Parts: sequence; structure tokens; C-alpha cells
Amino acid sequence: MDVVVVGGGLVGCATALRLMKAGAEVTVVERSVPGAEASSAAGGILAPQAESGGAGPFLTLCLRSRALYPAFVEEVEALSGIRVGFRPSGVLHVAFSEASRERLRARVALQRGLGLSADFLETDAVLRLEPALNPALAGAALFPDDASVDSRLLMRALSMAAARAGVRFVSGHVRALLEVAGRAAGVDVDGARLEADAVVVAAGAWTGLVPGSGVSPRQVRPARGQMVMLRARLPLLERVAFSDQGYLVPRADGHLLAGSTLEFEGFAKEVTAAGLKHILSLALELLPGLGSLPVVETWAGLRPFTEDQLPVLGPGPLPGLFLASGHFRNGILLAPVTAELLAQAVLARTPSLSLEPFRWNRPGIT
Ligand SMILES: Cc1cc2nc3c(=O)[nH]c(=O)nc-3n(C[C@H](O)[C@H](O)[C@H](O)COP(=O)(O)OP(=O)(O)OC[C@H]3O[C@@H](n4cnc5c(N)ncnc54)[C@H](O)[C@@H]3O)c2cc1C
Repeated sequence: MDVVVVGGGLVGCATALRLMKAGAEVTVVERSVPGAEASSAAGGILAPQAESGGAGPFLTLCLRSRALYPAFVEEVEALSGIRVGFRPSGVLHVAFSEASRERLRARVALQRGLGLSADFLETDAVLRLEPALNPALAGAALFPDDASVDSRLLMRALSMAAARAGVRFVSGHVRALLEVAGRAAGVDVDGARLEADAVVVAAGAWTGLVPGSGVSPRQVRPARGQMVMLRARLPLLERVAFSDQGYLVPRADGHLLAGSTLEFEGFAKEVTAAGLKHILSLALELLPGLGSLPVVETWAGLRPFTEDQLPVLGPGPLPGLFLASGHFRNGILLAPVTAELLAQAVLARTPSLSLEPFRWNRPGIT
């Protein structure tokens, strides 16, 4: 079976690799370079629990993807020869007020009730784990099974791994979907026909702009996030630290990523003065010692946002058309499970999880 994947972000490349390994012939069409957009802009936090809104299909999806991560990383590292900075060292959510402390205690209790590992730590215990954090904190929730990955390295490694597994990469802009006898039959790439038995649209925040995808530009739209990278001589944090305002992500080389903002400014990818002010204030509140560190890079990326904040996964409006989009804040986390579910859908195999809550025409986003 020939499959075309539109979009060479983490979602498109992971899906292409999984389909290729399952026996399909796969072509990824990317208008820029693989990983040019959100996937390389991300913090790389893999945190179903720290980001959880409670029990339900989305938490189940996120937990399944987190469980798939170690094998996914191993597969990608082995195929590419690139280490991707996977850190299964837990995530802390720090409180700075009594109200935040109570919310975190409640979340820990709820998650323990679901059989997940979570602890509420008092200030002394938090500072023993992470001595550089602000001593004025009012305790923290520790989610020991949450993790992080260097999303830029992962993106580079994954595109190489997919190419080595046999995925073909075509550089070009998908202008339209080809439809023959009521079925998706390939794509128009800059005026040339690329025929296929199935098409997977994984065009991130641009999914609604792919004519024929069945998703409107209102259903999946860009939500800008800005980021700041700081350089420390010695590692200052062992694990990701959240506050109610944002987060810090440590990298293996001592760099720290501070994020982020959530803005609806169309497709503009500017880094703004107000964005930097917001990010640096929250970073300094979490880790006051950051004040003397050099800022080495700033950037912004566009998350694919949906109104109900759930991804769009599985069959689209035409036979042969599939959607893998709308991953919003969790596309790095959700790449392995998306790849698994899309490969199952395209190859007409039984899905490992129900796709019903994520269907393209659900009431929450139409
Ligand atoms: C600042 C920031 C921080 C984030 N932090 C995290 C995090 O810590 N953890 C997490 O899990 N997620 C995080 N995310 C979210 C995550 O980055 C996204 O959900 C994920 O990258 C989406 O992947 P994607 O492959 O769908 O989209 P993208 O990476 O945007 O890829 C889509 C690709 O499609 C291509 N494309 C679009 N239209 C066409 C076309 N017509 N023809 C050909 N190619 C096309 C684009 O060029 C692009 O390369 C963050 C996002 C941002 C912006």
C-alpha cells in the first residue's frame, strides 16, 4: 500500500516510520525541512500527569504515549545513531501560594486514586531534590513517571530514522488533495500529482489550510508559544519544574529552556517584548539564580490548537483520508501513540484505543 503523509513534523515522521515498519510504502511531503515548525520549537515535556485535567480518554491517550516512549526513543536512537536527550526523571509542579498548594494536593490525591504515582512534597523535601529552586516555594507535586526529551534532537533523529527505514521525503507544498471516485487518491504537490492509496494529513497548525483535508482553518488554528534558552555552566535542575505560570526544562548540556506564552496571533511567529517579560519573570520566580545567566536564543512556534483541546485522529471525511493533527501543547508526548493509532487506522487493523473521542467531526470542534 502507498501512503502519502502531508507534513514532516514529529507527528508526520513518527506516523511515517510506524507505517513503513508495518509494511506500507510511505512518502512524506514537507514544504520546508522536516521539523521546521512546532516540533523543533517545543520544550519536549512528556507530562500526562503534570498537565492532566483529570481522568478521561485524553489522559488515557497521554499515558499510553508516555508508556510507548522508552521503546520509541530506543528505536529512533538505534536507527539514527543520535541520542535524543530522553530524561525519565520526573516532573515537579511547584506552588507559590496557598491556593496553588491546595490544587496540587487535590491533584495528587486524585491521581493516586487512579493508581498513578504522585506525591506532594513539603518545601524542605523539594529543595533537597532541586536545591536551586526558590526557597520561598510552598511545596510541590512530584510526578515521578513524567519525563522530557530534547525535541530538536528527537526531530533530527526521527527524520533520519524514518529515511533509513525507507521513508521517502519529497520537498514541496501540498496544494490539494486528489479525489478519485469519492476516495482520497494522493496529493497535488506544487502542481504535480503524487498518487497514493491513502493520505495522512499531519500538517500541524496549517492542517485547516490543506484544501480537501476536511478540517477548516477555524477547527485547527495556531496558538503561538514563545521560548527562551539560557546557558548555565553547571546543570541547575535535574528535572522539569512547572509553576502555575510556565516551566523550566533542563537539557543535558546545562542549557535551560524557559517557556512559554499562549497567544492567538494568527500565523505570526514573532518573539515579543511582552512575551519575553512574561517568560523571564516566571523563570526568575522559579529559579532566582537565573538572573546572571546569558540568554542564548529566543524563538516562537505555533501549536495546533482545537477548541476542546483534543487532537484530531483517525479517518477523515473521505475514504482513504486520515487526520493526525490538533495536538496543541502535547504533540511531542503524543507522537508515539498517534503513530500507532494512525498506522492501525490506515492499515484497517483494530485500534489499541478508541478513536471516537478524537474524530474530526465531533461536536466540540464543529
Ligand atoms: C513553544 C512550544 C512549546 C511546546 N512544548 C511542548 C512540550 O513540552 N511537550 C509537548 O508534548 N508538546 C509541546 N508543544 C506542542 C508540540 O510542539 C506540537 O503539538 C507538535 O510539535 C505538533 O507536531 P506536528 O508534527 O503536528 O506539527 P509541526 O511540527 O508544526 O509540523 C507540521 C509540518 O507540516 C508542514 N506543512 C504544513 N502545511 C504543509 C503543506 N501544505 N505541504 C507540505 N508541508 C506542510 C510544516 O512545514 C511543518 O513542518 C509545544 C509547542 C510550542 C510551540
